[in-house]
Amino acid sequence: MPEDDPHRTFTTERGSFCLARCACGWTGMARRARSQARTDAERHLTAARGAPGTTSGTADGTAADRPVE
Ligand SMILES: [Zn+2]
Repeated sequence: MPEDDPHRTFTTERGSFCLARCACGWTGMARRARSQARTDAERHLTAARGAPGTTSGTADGTAADRPVE
């Protein structure tokens, strides 16, 4: 149910940097590459939507195995 998902990420530019933000108030690190900011956003979404009660231990945070809904 994406409709009531409070996490809506987008990227915004600040000077020559780009950073990911989320509607929940989360802000990612400033990145030089937008792709990096997007990766941060993906990571945030994965962590936010991921298994409840389980903190992600994967530092690399590949979202490849996230189930498609
Ligand atoms: Zn969020």
